[in-house]
Amino acid sequence: MRLIFLGPPGAGKGTQAKRLTDKYGIPQLSTGDMLRAAVTAGTEIGKRAKAVMDAGGLVSDDIVNQIVSERIQEADCAKGFILDGYPRTVPQAKALAENMRQKDLVLDAVIELKVDEEALVRRIENRVAETIAAGGTVRSDDNPDSFRKRLSEYREKTAPLSQYYEGQGELVVLDGMAHVDAVTVAIEAVLEKDANAAASAARI
Ligand code: AMP
Repeated sequence: MRLIFLGPPGAGKGTQAKRLTDKYGIPQLSTGDMLRAAVTAGTEIGKRAKAVMDAGGLVSDDIVNQIVSERIQEADCAKGFILDGYPRTVPQAKALAENMRQKDLVLDAVIELKVDEEALVRRIENRVAETIAAGGTVRSDDNPDSFRKRLSEYREKTAPLSQYYEGQGELVVLDGMAHVDAVTVAIEAVLEKDANAAASAARI
């Protein structure tokens, strides 16, 4: 199963992807997590990406395309993977398609989680509060200025992907405002090609 999650920051892509990894036994590939790991490890890529990430901008297509291309060849991706936060631009989507074509891999679904922006701001505030309460470290881009920038990058560069995948007949849009469990049910229904269940859950 090879799946892409689309949706703005805070839409719940990571939460839903994590739930699916358990059920389907395939890894969640979050380019954000991979880039944060590179920053922490102080690699060349991490050094190049840090300032852009902190400001809420997008890291260059070349860097993320390379990271994903290498990652999907690893053994744990043999049965499939869930892409969370990639692709984020139309050129990334085209690079992914070419990359998968070369590896003889087929995409099973592109699922977009739709949410309203007011709710996103509240979710990010909650995420920060929960992280602090749990004694964790708040992400350096989870602050109001960077978050606004991440949203505007999403609108400008990532939102056009919906049309791109819709044009290819691959897009399913779900209501990301529904309860987190209802969203999971809807996603599973889509993946199991159960149209009725998907419609009665959170499908838009
Ligand atoms: P995320 O954890 O998905 O919210 O990503 C955090 C940050 O990592 C983003 O704001 C970008 O700076 C960078 N990033 C993650 N994925 C990508 C991508 N596919 N293309 C460009 N930048 C990315």
